[in-house]
Amino acid sequence: MSEEANPFESLQEQIRDAAEYVDADDGVLRRLSRPERVLETNLTIERDDGTLDTFRAYRSQFNGDRGPYKGGIRYHPGVDKDEVKALSGWMVYKTAVVDIPYGGGKGGIAVDPRDLSMDELERLTRSFAKELRPVIGEDQDIPAPDVNTGQREMNWIKDTYEKLENTTAPGVITGKAIDSGGSEGRVEATGRSVMLTSREAFDYLGKRIEGASVAVQGYGNAGSVAAKLLESELGANVVAVSDSSGAVYHEGGLDAAAVRDHKDETGAVTGYDGAKEELTNEELLTLDVDLLIPAALENAIDGDLAHDVQADVVVEAANGPLTPDADDVLTERGVHVFPDILANAGGVTVSYFEWVQNRQRFYWAEEKVNEELERHIVDAFDGLIQAYESYDIPNFRTAAYVVGLQRVLKSYREGGSWP
Ligand code: GLU
Repeated sequence: MSEEANPFESLQEQIRDAAEYVDADDGVLRRLSRPERVLETNLTIERDDGTLDTFRAYRSQFNGDRGPYKGGIRYHPGVDKDEVKALSGWMVYKTAVVDIPYGGGKGGIAVDPRDLSMDELERLTRSFAKELRPVIGEDQDIPAPDVNTGQREMNWIKDTYEKLENTTAPGVITGKAIDSGGSEGRVEATGRSVMLTSREAFDYLGKRIEGASVAVQGYGNAGSVAAKLLESELGANVVAVSDSSGAVYHEGGLDAAAVRDHKDETGAVTGYDGAKEELTNEELLTLDVDLLIPAALENAIDGDLAHDVQADVVVEAANGPLTPDADDVLTERGVHVFPDILANAGGVTVSYFEWVQNRQRFYWAEEKVNEELERHIVDAFDGLIQAYESYDIPNFRTAAYVVGLQRVLKSYREGGSWP
């Protein structure tokens, strides 16, 4: 394996690749390649046994030219400053590709949440919310869930913020539970946009999605929902899925929802009795399938492994699952990669709908949420293809960055800079 890619350097390379097709001078590009500011803080909490523990936490506000900073908060031992900076930059281009009125941000705490009790997690989350309070707000910066966070953490952050501000401001954070001001369809939104992107991609490439074989790496919220919807809405054949415990495989097809139930019960996809074989993570990533969906963390496929990928199409549910080296190899080998900043943008798109509903205090039916989401993803897909074809761009990732970069540049230029 080659040395692990630094995600922040990967982001900068992706922006540089796109800049070749965009009219922008170096000064402006430098501005759009690094965060405006990063909050770095230490959160000290009392453990249940009375001892103190300290955790490093970050919030990166990358760019706000198109609107308030927007992006999730992750809890993971691998969280560090460069990772959060990269993730916040990817959000800038993601919100621009789907054309929602936000900039990009991201936060995280370097912690393994499995090591904490629920009370400890609540104290840690509220402590982070207190640190974030001066820099977030319905019109400033709007966090959301990411790896290992969900409705529960969002509800705690909203409550802490509202109590400290002595107000109600449900739009300060998205991904909340329905009774705390969440939106119908938000939990499934990331997986739904992966399904929609796969549908559009196969259609564009002249391939049949019905019956197509699919492997999914990572079986959290994004991967498991994508697998379920690919099966139930498009008739695709999900043959392999994995998580940190390993992978399960059945060439005749797994039942994606049943594997999810098994994981909910036992904590792992392995041991699912509808599988024929168990595989390693690497074996899953190199299976000969029609569609591969990396849905775990960054750098799942590097330049070495990319030589062995046998899928025809890759649709990224995770953020940054391919290193730039992997991208080069796959482009060269004619594997079609549909990038994270389009494919997983359903999450932030429905976060936008949640925020709109919060601001209006008027809530939508799930049907309307899904219809609007489909429109945004299909329009974004078409915009990306238009750029890909008209500028003769070598791959879909660079095409997505070209669209995103053009939109950010346009609002920056229209606003000018002050002072
Ligand atoms: N964490 C998700 C992402 O990476 C969602 C962000 C949001 O809803 O703001 O896109």
